[in-house]
Amino acid sequence: MSESAGSSVPPGSQTSLRNANQRRVLDTVRRDGRLTQAQISRRTALAPSTVSSIVHELIDAGLFVAASDGAGRRGQLIGFRGSAGHVVGIDVGHRHVTVAVADLNQEILAQRRHELPDEHRFAEDLELVGRTLDTLLRDRGTARSGLLAAGLTLPAPVDLEGRLISAGAILPAWSGIDVREEAGRRLGLPVVVENDANAGALGEHAWGAGRGARNMAYLKLGHGVGAGLILDGSLFRGATGSAGELGHTTVDETGRVCRCGNRGCLETYVSSGNITRLLADTHGADLTVPDLVAAALGGDLGCARVIGDTGRLLGTAVANLCNTINPELVVVGGELSRAGELLLAPLRDVVSRHGVHGGVRDLRIEAARLGIEAHVVGAVVLALQHAELPTGDAAGR
Ligand SMILES: [Zn+2]
Repeated sequence: MSESAGSSVPPGSQTSLRNANQRRVLDTVRRDGRLTQAQISRRTALAPSTVSSIVHELIDAGLFVAASDGAGRRGQLIGFRGSAGHVVGIDVGHRHVTVAVADLNQEILAQRRHELPDEHRFAEDLELVGRTLDTLLRDRGTARSGLLAAGLTLPAPVDLEGRLISAGAILPAWSGIDVREEAGRRLGLPVVVENDANAGALGEHAWGAGRGARNMAYLKLGHGVGAGLILDGSLFRGATGSAGELGHTTVDETGRVCRCGNRGCLETYVSSGNITRLLADTHGADLTVPDLVAAALGGDLGCARVIGDTGRLLGTAVANLCNTINPELVVVGGELSRAGELLLAPLRDVVSRHGVHGGVRDLRIEAARLGIEAHVVGAVVLALQHAELPTGDAAGR
């Protein structure tokens, strides 16, 4: 994040203090969305009179706008004006890409999802993202020049500089590509890249089941299985960015060979491809996870059995995770989470048996509230975190 104060402003001066306070107000509204002046004052620990003066400056500068929340003047909500800028969220999965445009008040204004063919390639994916973004902007009458940043999530580990660690077996078409640099060049925007489980954790933490949680784990169940960890209120990425690779913890070291090169990883039991394969003989080779979930919810015993067994296998891994990081909340995301209690009840049962009692006694295990949207929301959150906001000065005061 850049400083709002120019380098010519001496630290400790009145101007530098005013700029620092203005930055606190801007960052608070960016992080929490529209707020009343009283809420801004509490969250920034600035005096109400200081907040009032800064808010008026920012309204005069065309950055903020006050809108009634229907509760009279005292309840007026302060937020960013639409013209203050927009951000883009991009979620690239194994079989889909979703592009969303959001304003600085944390509202997604438009989004579109495309299914991808099996053999999709990096360059084509980015071209599709660019075309989709143009369509969304045109439909809304939003100028491209107002875009401040994009967040992009991928089903592969990403290092601390936002580059793919390895995509070989996971996302072969993206192998060896500096995604941040390449996407930034093609979209003409600063791009932040993040692993999809981490993005899901950010999305659920900001806008979903994890709102207000200090310590939580988000479990992504899909073609791959991973966890995103929020520790002490922030995303935990580890020394090299590969924290939370829960899918590659060993269940049986003589088990099947995993795409990561190890044997018997959790993922070889609970990934989408592996659970549908269990039902291939009885339910056909084309069965998808949404089909399986719908059948189980409709009373199909074989499908319900597979989901229950998946919950139990995940339970052992989640209990180990809870014994290590002691979260207050585990959010289960991905298509399989739509099975609800068919998945969660056996998962909770195993966690309560294998988790340290004091650590899991009050633990909540819930389905993702944002569903499969969690990743694109996380991409928007990332873009918002990294967008360089204009300041009152830059806006022509
Ligand atoms: Zn593995």
